[in-house]
Amino acid sequence: MAAICVYCASGTGIAEAYLELATAVGARLAADGHTLVSGGGRVSMMGAVARAARAGGAHTTGVIPVHLQGREIADTDADELLVVDTMRERKKAMDDRADAFLALPGGIGTLEELFEVWTAGSLTMHAKPVVVLDHDGFYAPLWAFLDGLHERGFVRAEALDRLHRVDTVDAAFAVLDRLLAE
Ligand code: AMP
Repeated sequence: MAAICVYCASGTGIAEAYLELATAVGARLAADGHTLVSGGGRVSMMGAVARAARAGGAHTTGVIPVHLQGREIADTDADELLVVDTMRERKKAMDDRADAFLALPGGIGTLEELFEVWTAGSLTMHAKPVVVLDHDGFYAPLWAFLDGLHERGFVRAEALDRLHRVDTVDAAFAVLDRLLAE
């Protein structure tokens, strides 16, 4: 049992399949006895993962900056909702509370959070697992770019190896369980 921080989209207007993925992740997280740490919004995939996690009995913690409470519609049903002053405080609170990080499809906010936690791990500033669930090739262009950076010597193999890429919900939780047990 661990606290899993899930990064995912806050944007509306995305395909229903992504909301279904977020729901499946929240349900599985709860079924496995984990707790959820998230951005504390009700909208889009963020809201779907939190609702499904709670429906499955998981404890949910949301961390939302005060100025985003309206835009992302604060998840007031969260078991614990932290309202912080800045985005930096949000990310720190999410990081501090999480044992592992799982990124789903998302936009620039998701990418920013993912890259920050991944680069910190690759610099040995933490040893928490970082997993990306890419169920439909959403991240294929990013993998191509990163692999190209590695081939040209800009990214070390050890750094790439710290970003665990999986394509199913089962595989995501299997790799999280394995890494959390190490
Ligand atoms: P997005 O992937 O752009 O839909 O955003 C997903 C989540 O990331 C939302 O909760 C955003 O508020 C959050 N976010 C946006 N910008 C940043 C940032 N610079 N650092 C951390 N999180 C962010």
